[in-house]
Formats: sequence, C-alpha cells, structure tokens
Amino acid sequence: ERTRVLVVGGGYGGATAAKYLRLFSGGKLDVVLVEPNDAFVSCPVSNLVLGGSKTLTDITTPYDTLAARHGVRIVKDTVASIDAAKKTATLASGPTIAWDKLVLSPGVDLMFDSIAGLRAAHTEGRILQAWKAGPETAALRRQLEAMPDGGVYAIVVPEAPYRCPPGPYERACQVAAYFKAAKPKSKVLILDANPDVTSKGPLFKKVWAESYPGMVEFRGQHKAASVDARSNTVKFEVQEDVKADVLNVLPPMRAGAIAVQAGLANMNQRWCGVNYQTFASTVAPDIHVLGDSIQIAPAMPKSGHMANNHAKVAAAAIVAQLAGWEINPAPMLTNTCYSFVDAKRVIHVASVHEYVAAEKTFKTVAGSGGVSTGPTELEGEYGWNWARTIWADMLS
Ligand code: FAD
Repeated sequence: ERTRVLVVGGGYGGATAAKYLRLFSGGKLDVVLVEPNDAFVSCPVSNLVLGGSKTLTDITTPYDTLAARHGVRIVKDTVASIDAAKKTATLASGPTIAWDKLVLSPGVDLMFDSIAGLRAAHTEGRILQAWKAGPETAALRRQLEAMPDGGVYAIVVPEAPYRCPPGPYERACQVAAYFKAAKPKSKVLILDANPDVTSKGPLFKKVWAESYPGMVEFRGQHKAASVDARSNTVKFEVQEDVKADVLNVLPPMRAGAIAVQAGLANMNQRWCGVNYQTFASTVAPDIHVLGDSIQIAPAMPKSGHMANNHAKVAAAAIVAQLAGWEINPAPMLTNTCYSFVDAKRVIHVASVHEYVAAEKTFKTVAGSGGVSTGPTELEGEYGWNWARTIWADMLS
C-alpha cells in the first residue's frame, strides 16, 4: 500500500500542497484532496467583482487539472471530524479515510457569535460578509446596485489578526470606484476596531483623499458589539451607533472550524500553533496546518501568497520526512499583496521571511520588500498577472 497524504481544503494552501506533494515525491505519494466546492473561487481580486470590473467567472478555476495532470485524487465532500491518534478523517457523507500524514488548510472561521445579532442577520442574507469569495460576493454586489444614490455603505473591520490585512481597504476603494461612476452622492464608511489603517495606511489614505475626495471616511477604534438588521444599525463598544444602507460586517476570525474541532487551535483557542520549519501542528506532529489557520510569526500576514508558500515548505518537509532525508534547515517565505484602488491602478506591499533555527521562528529579512510609491496602471498589470500566475501554480 502506498503512503497516503490527506489534504483538507482546496484553497491557496491545500491545492498548492496537493500538487507539490505529487511533484516532490515523483508521483509516489497517494494524495487525496477533500474539498466541498466544485471549482476554486479566488478571494484575491474578488473585490473587483464588487467594483464591477470583473465577474465571478473571471476569478474561478476548475479543479480538473490537479486530477488529470498531477494525479491528485479529489473527493468532493467536507471533512466532518479528524482522529489524530487513529490517523483517520471522517467525511460529512459518512466514509472514513485513513492517512499517514494530514495537511489541513481550511481557511478561517468567521466568529459570528462575537457580535450580537450577526449570525441571524447573516443567515437571513441581510448583513453580508463576502470574506469567502463566491455567491456571497455576487449578493453583496447586488446590494450595492440596489442602493440609492446618496446612500451609505459601511464596512466593519475586526481587530487584527484577520484574513488579508489590506482587504477591507481595497474593498472600500472598489466600492468607492463604483459609487464615483454610478452614484456619486454616496458614501463609504470604514468602521475599524484597530486604531489606524492596518496595512499600506499612508497609500490608502492618499488614494481616498485624491481619487475619492469626500466619499471615503475612515474611523478607527470602532469595535462592533451588536447589529440590528431591521434598522441596519451597528452598535459599538464605545463609539456612537452607525446606520448605513449597506452594512458589510466582518466579525473576528479564527482557524477554520475543522481545525478548532480537532483541537488544533491551541493558541488562545483561535489559531493553530505550528513548528515553522515543517508547519507540523505543535499538538499533533503528523498533521501539518497551513494558511490563515496558523498562529503567524510577527509581520507575516494571513494572505493567499503566504499560504501558497507555507504549502511548498510543508510538502517538501513531508516528502523528506517520509523518505528519511534531511529537512530543509532554513526555509524562506515571500509575500506580495496587491490592492486594486480602482479598475486598473494598484498598490502593493512585499516582504521576505527567513526561518531562524536558533529562535524557531520566521524573521523578516532585513532590507527585503517594501511598499509602492503610488498607485499605477503598470502595477495593475502586475497585480492581475500575479493572480493568474498563482492560480496556475496551484491548479494547472
Ligand atoms: P482558503 O483559500 O480559504 O481555502 C480553504 C478551503 O478549505 C476552502 O476551499 C474551503 O471550502 C475548504 N474547507 C474548509 N473546511 C473544510 C472541511 N472541513 N473539509 C474540506 N474542505 C474544507 N491574499 C493575497 O495573497 N493577496 C490578495 O490580494 C488577497 N486579497 C484578498 C481579498 C479579500 C476580499 C479576501 C477575503 C482575502 C484576500 N486574500 C488575499 C487572503 C487570501 O484569500 C487568504 O489568505 C487565503 O485564501 C488563505 O488560504 P487558505 O488555504 O488558508 O484558505
């Protein structure tokens, strides 16, 4: 019997891991990927669907090639439970799959219950998040289209760390670009639990002042306590209530539900602690956790680019462990996050992170990375091609 690696979740971390486990093992490992969705829908660049310059079709890639070209066995299902001691996983549809190594990249769980009233408002489709790209992205776009000119769109941002630090501010730009063209009397409010803009602050503020004057307003230290979907109002712990026509309330986040249920979220009950050299869980050494679910080292964002890099480090470590080879003593990670400030212009932030064995953590390489000087259309080309290239790296 061949050694089996079970990969849970076909997103930025999981799909990359499945492909590279097959490549690095020369096709020797039996790699099974469990994912409930028919096709991969990208969160990166999904804000452009809200702005109206892209559609969901533009950001969707099928899973077929992973199976046909790379021999990954794809099971369309959800993993309902994991038994780390017995090394099995049980699917929602009933069957149990045995594994030698498990790779878990389930993304984030939105903690609806930490804001009173939000779970019901979300279930009824009144207050959306669209923080997992797909039908909800299209639904939020429809809410924006239905909003009258002169209306208010408000995005509520949780305390860091959360999925994609610049994501809420990119979204504010995209909604503003749409309003500027279609309903210019409208407003975009950013109600942020953090004191200031969490990522690329000076650049985003410059864009708001220069491209969307009087339209985008940022308010820090706004930690949401409850929502009332009937009156479309958010109540904050300290600040005054805010009423808006379209409310986009992002609750605090934690590791994907299956990681929490499996007892792997050992850092404040929220994130999964990992050995950064291999991404093995600090609770269960044969389970490797990737992407947004992990406890990150300082300055490492929860991004798709990072999840893709985690996956390659973990895949190489797993193949080395199973073959009895030395594990790479100093893995490196890179990150780039492009943000579209309108349909064409982009700003970016980049960094390089190096595993420092003596401290068992990743440290930002001195002098690496940086941020754009300003939005340009050339960076817009880089940004769109970054997306096309990473989708090909994961899925082609
Ligand atoms: P995901 O990519 O979300 O994948 C998780 C997968 O696991 C999903 O397909 C899900 O269906 C599956 N799953 C969950 N539970 C189970 C289960 N029990 N059984 C089976 N399958 C399961 N990052 C960037 O690098 N650049 C950007 O420009 C960028 N922009 C963003 C914009 C927005 C609006 C958002 C929301 C995010 C953005 N991100 C960006 C962040 C990026 O989307 C995440 O960091 C990335 O998706 C994390 O990868 P992951 O593998 O952890 O999770």
